Amino acid sequence: MNKKTLDRFQAILLEQRRRLLQSSEKSKEEDLQLSVDDLPDEIDHASAEINQSVIFRLRDRERVLLQKIEHALKKIENGDFGVCEECGDEISAKRLEARPVTTLCIKCKETQEIKEKIYA
Ligand SMILES: [Zn+2]
Repeated sequence: MNKKTLDRFQAILLEQRRRLLQSSEKSKEEDLQLSVDDLPDEIDHASAEINQSVIFRLRDRERVLLQKIEHALKKIENGDFGVCEECGDEISAKRLEARPVTTLCIKCKETQEIKEKIYA
């Protein structure tokens, strides 16, 4: 992969990281406004719990995504970005465009998904 392409992916990843951190800052602020004790009855209490769990799950996913972004940025530095971690083949540019944090080529990804289905 040439320097120009790498630079572009690095810019995309840095932008994704910036947005992610920004959105988690925002949800922290929203959290401060949400107090379960202030809610008047059982129904509201229940829906508040649902909201909390949605927020919690989103944060988990954000955290995972953030780790993936960091990982991809490190790979760019090390010069092995765009190489499948499973088989060592090059990951197609099209696939990286759609998902710059990906670490597997399409073949290995499909194999992984089949395995996940079997062992799930
Ligand atoms: Zn592969």
